[in-house]
Amino acid sequence: MNKLAAVPTLLWIGNHQVPAAQGETLPVIDPATEQVIAEVANAGSEDWLRALELADAVQYEWAGWAPRLRSEVLHEIFVEVMQRKDEFATVISTEMGKPYAEAFGEVAYGAEYFRWFAEEAVRIPGRIAKAPAGTGTILVDRTPVGPVLAITPWNFPLAMATRKIAPALAAGCPIIVKPAAETPLTMLLLGKVIAEVFGKYKVPSGVVSIITTLQAAAMSEQLLADSRLRKVTFTGSTAVGKQLVRQSADCLQRTSMELGGNAPCVIAADADLDLALGCALQAKMRNGGEACIAVNRFFVHEDISAEFIDRFTQAMAGYRIGHGLEPSTTLGPMITAVQRDRIAALVDNALTGGARATTGGIVPDRPGFFYPATVLVDVPNNAAILHEEIFGPVATVSTFTDLEDAVARANDTQFGLAAYGFSENVHCAQFLAENLRAGMIGINRGAISDPAAPFGGVKESGFGREGGTEGIEEYLNPRYIAWT
Ligand code: NAD
Repeated sequence: MNKLAAVPTLLWIGNHQVPAAQGETLPVIDPATEQVIAEVANAGSEDWLRALELADAVQYEWAGWAPRLRSEVLHEIFVEVMQRKDEFATVISTEMGKPYAEAFGEVAYGAEYFRWFAEEAVRIPGRIAKAPAGTGTILVDRTPVGPVLAITPWNFPLAMATRKIAPALAAGCPIIVKPAAETPLTMLLLGKVIAEVFGKYKVPSGVVSIITTLQAAAMSEQLLADSRLRKVTFTGSTAVGKQLVRQSADCLQRTSMELGGNAPCVIAADADLDLALGCALQAKMRNGGEACIAVNRFFVHEDISAEFIDRFTQAMAGYRIGHGLEPSTTLGPMITAVQRDRIAALVDNALTGGARATTGGIVPDRPGFFYPATVLVDVPNNAAILHEEIFGPVATVSTFTDLEDAVARANDTQFGLAAYGFSENVHCAQFLAENLRAGMIGINRGAISDPAAPFGGVKESGFGREGGTEGIEEYLNPRYIAWT
């Protein structure tokens, strides 16, 4: 039986499924087989303008709903997604490529944003104060920013979108979601869940729309030129993020930018090596390395580097490539041939410059966009792989003798999303925590994402935070009421 047969392929414009106005479709490809697995609607201008029109029309009605009721809607979406974990995980694994177990993990993680923000919807803060001059009262509350456009990447097809949808709804904003063209099915399936829950609670049609399209640039250009849109929230590459910020200037929409990373991991001489190795694998290989917080650069103290490289290489060599739905698979394909070739070019460039691969480094001769788990040592400082985001299962390992020098090298990047440090010495761990420059720091931890924590970067990794108590603020404007 075709496991994707029940997944919607049409747009969600409000609570209704519709084909693209122009009747066009776009193909969805299984990256493990290179086969087309579905055709979904390829929206055009008429479609996304209709979604914006609806969002604009319902925004005040939705904003006026009791927070407790919005909270219940969100909680019900959480419950429904969790009940369909298997269906979601199968779709994610098939269209994105990650092993089923990881896809299953993403569903729980992605759904959790609905539960977290269901709980935040009823805790939107305000404040009241006497004016210092005694001239009256200062009242501050929060109002929803208005219609939101969310543009999301393919690497976590569910979670990267739920991080945006859940806080927007909790805050009282309508939202138009544009998933990556490579992985539209997960979002269209979520659209079905949302439409069912919205139907039950009689949420007005237009609070959520899901627009799949190949014309991302045309869509963002047109919507950002429209003053009815009040916010764009983006997860993706730094180049596209910069373009969206430029486009938002004309109508001064609010922006949140979750962009690329180039995470370092500094492993001190006194680190617990067993712990550091386990975490290193987690932080490098989660999602096949196709993660913005994946470690790109390991810096390991010279005293322990030989053992680290040896054991890390053995573990990396043990990754088994295959289709995400095959139980033995521990490393799925890259998302596209372009991404796979980009990774291969970075590795080849480093090898040409004098680096050595202790494992991997060769594109397997088989269908699917596979790249093997790879460890590079002796990488020259000017190699592109140390400066660009790898976004694949390739780790570089460099050594150091002086911790301050290691931290300076770790910070020598225009990115600042995540950084990791390992030490059993409290002073050294504190030094790492305070001096690594990133929006998120893992100390003796390889997995740091948590819906209850603020996810986001500094420098060219962007701005704005998703999750935590901070996440909802991105969708709220403080309002000051001068009172007697
Ligand atoms: P991408 O920027 O090419 O695409 C991301 C999204 O933007 C997709 O939906 C795409 O269709 C859309 N898009 C592409 N061009 C556009 C344009 N001109 N105008 C408007 N939308 C456009 O990125 P990608 O390759 O799909 O995703 C990988 C990138 O995402 C990596 O750099 C990664 O670090 C980043 N990422 C960041 C985070 C984070 O939270 N900081 C999380 C996951 C991924």
